Amino acid sequence: MSVLNSLEYAEKLDQQDPLQSFREEFYLPKKDLYLDGNSLGLMSKRAETSLLELADSWKRLGIDGWMNGKYPWFTLSEKLGEMCAPLVGAKAKEVIITASTTTNLHQLVATFYKPKGKKTKILADELNFPSDIYAMQSQLQLKGLNPSEHLIQVKSRDGRLIDEQDIIDAMTEEVALIILPTVLYRSGQLLDIEKLTTEAHKRGIIIGFDGCHSVGAIPHHFSKWGVDFAYWCTYKYLNSGPGGVGALYVNEKHFGTMPGLTGWFGSNKEKQFDMEHTFTQASDAGAYQIGTPHLLSTAPLIGSLEMFAEASIEAIREKSLKLTNFLMELIQSELGEFNFTIGNPLEDTRRGGHVALEHPDAARICKTLKEVGVIPDYRNPNIIRLAPVAFYTSYVDVWHTVQILKRIMEEKLYEKFENKREVIA
Ligand SMILES: *Cc1c(COP(=O)(O)O)cnc(C)c1O
Repeated sequence: MSVLNSLEYAEKLDQQDPLQSFREEFYLPKKDLYLDGNSLGLMSKRAETSLLELADSWKRLGIDGWMNGKYPWFTLSEKLGEMCAPLVGAKAKEVIITASTTTNLHQLVATFYKPKGKKTKILADELNFPSDIYAMQSQLQLKGLNPSEHLIQVKSRDGRLIDEQDIIDAMTEEVALIILPTVLYRSGQLLDIEKLTTEAHKRGIIIGFDGCHSVGAIPHHFSKWGVDFAYWCTYKYLNSGPGGVGALYVNEKHFGTMPGLTGWFGSNKEKQFDMEHTFTQASDAGAYQIGTPHLLSTAPLIGSLEMFAEASIEAIREKSLKLTNFLMELIQSELGEFNFTIGNPLEDTRRGGHVALEHPDAARICKTLKEVGVIPDYRNPNIIRLAPVAFYTSYVDVWHTVQILKRIMEEKLYEKFENKREVIA
């Protein structure tokens, strides 16, 4: 083992880590190394505090919690949108915390997909998350269009990555709307969002992004790049807790566009309680809310987003890249003989927050990892996703993870399990 992949070196990296103090703010599992923050982020003490504070405002204030207390409920979604905006490079009014990823996608397609004449197709990719694809299919069906004809899914050349040029080549005159992930959930590929947006706009096509696997791990510049809309969840890298409320961004040039799915919480706030039957929409991204906010599932974000403001998303990205680079170096130097393939792009500019480790026995290696104290996740057919999270994963954790993997492979500890995924992988 060389100096650069020793435990001492990992310890040195931890000592030099400017974000190290945040680790103590999280509830880390007692015995396990947690590398699954890309599926469900861990609870921070600050998120717990803001959740309890919100519950307390209900206890003490009843209905008056809407306008009073530390976090008045009536404007909390807007306030948190403002706090989230710097993470995606948007203006405060362009972001709102609301609903869920899938519901927000339904709203945004309902709002921005306007098939006309020959321009009727939605362009997506074949590696996107199933829920996104289901939503697009059903939105097409609601318009009386056949998804197998009108949803174009750009093919991957190798089953892992999508080539940006293939997407651009598919931007024909028939495309009305493009929806792509920022980071692909399996391979962790980061798409060139700016380039794709520029190319879409050259052809007069509206383009939106699913930021589930990048927001909270990678800085974005949605406003500057002119991205039309985006949506993401908050329970992965943003650590808002299971079922935490989602987020959406709408570029200000689209403010005033009538929401496809209308509800009273999309109203201009001054008018909302006039209770008129004519909808007067909010003048910003708030217009795309539908019903009463899920406040108890929103509350943890207050504490969580404060931490992002303190740390800065640039510093988080810098550490995240160092962590994944360290992990990949260790995989290459320690696990070379065990038939692993690194399935994510190796370049920093094309990589998200996790490492996609491929192996024919991935399902049972994941089960073994869990048994011996590492929490990864598994994605069909052969991927072990390992996400070292800048806020709470140390370089020493990464070092131990690879040592544990090495022992599993050397001693073939995985052989006692069936190579089949669990219900929740
Ligand atoms: C996590 C994730 C989702 C989940 O959607 P929910 O509506 O929050 O269940 C959707 N799309 C992508 C790309 C995801 O990573």
